[in-house]
Amino acid sequence: MPCPIDCSKVRFAVAAVREAAQLVRRVQKEMVGDALAKGDKSPVTVADFAAQALVGKRLEETFPQMGFVGEESSEALRTDEGSETLEQIVRFVRECIPEANADDVCGWIDRGVGEPTDNFWTLDPVDGTKGFLRGDQYAIALAYLRDGVVRVGALGCPELAEGVRPEKGGAGSLLVARRTNGTFVCSLDDEQAEWQKLSVSECDEVAKARLLRSVEKAHTNTGEIGKLAETLGVVADPVPMDSQAKYSVLAAGGGEVNLRLLSPSRPDYREMIWDQAAGSIVVEEAGGRVSDLDGKPLDFSQGRTLAANRGVLATNGRLHEALLAGLKQIGA
Ligand code: AMP
Ligand code: MG
Repeated sequence: MPCPIDCSKVRFAVAAVREAAQLVRRVQKEMVGDALAKGDKSPVTVADFAAQALVGKRLEETFPQMGFVGEESSEALRTDEGSETLEQIVRFVRECIPEANADDVCGWIDRGVGEPTDNFWTLDPVDGTKGFLRGDQYAIALAYLRDGVVRVGALGCPELAEGVRPEKGGAGSLLVARRTNGTFVCSLDDEQAEWQKLSVSECDEVAKARLLRSVEKAHTNTGEIGKLAETLGVVADPVPMDSQAKYSVLAAGGGEVNLRLLSPSRPDYREMIWDQAAGSIVVEEAGGRVSDLDGKPLDFSQGRTLAANRGVLATNGRLHEALLAGLKQIGA
């Protein structure tokens, strides 16, 4: 089924994320088992670069005048040490673009190295790389921004069912949102499947909130999240989950709060735009609210990072003020 939102950028985002997610899955299937046993992280490298090359190429074909900001650059692949990895990347990209060669692939990846402009796409080709390697949640995240505002966002979540339930090896979920048009979910594998509109949870009792947080302790502050939950009388333990799959679960009503506190080891860390752009619009268009830890809207006009914001608080909206007050109370 075509997505109910009739817009060329939405159609592009849906097709590009679906194609990239399927490529990433093939890499995982072929490479992860062996590599994990050896402690080798190359599958995620191959998946990351191959997906960015593919989306870079599709953007060049469809929206050649628009900018592109991606997480990766081909610099390391162009060295002697990178040549074997580059060969593997080219092999996977050729499954989608048979005529691709190593120079093409590096060129498509490097379409994404620039600074944001007033009209551009941003991609996290494999968000949640640790989850990808562990066989847990990860996401392919693509967003379109104009004049510093996220207008369209798409999330491919291969290990989620209906955008909300972890399901390993299932059809996966594809979410798309357009500003003022809502958030929709469809099967990632089955293009013929119906699209469903998503709405955040209606829970308005903070004690009943389900908090989502990163698995990786280096990406947040689990101690402070525990303190916040205690201060607010939240009953359930926070749910650890990798990647922007957390935003999908929030948009689909499977949780009320997604917190990104600053890690004590990196208090000066500022979020990368590709880690927040698609996820934030998906939550907002499902009726939720997204701000930083001080309640300020995320400012996507500051370059490749959210330099003017500190951390992220995403909620179902109804609980936002209570969470902001709690954060203030614990001094987070
Ligand atoms: P998550 O899966 O929620 O842990 O988030 C994964 C993302 O966290 C990655 O894409 C990284 O870009 C980002 N990240 C890396 N270091 C940090 C940090 N110190 N604080 C917050 N996020 C980080
Ligand atoms: Mg990421």
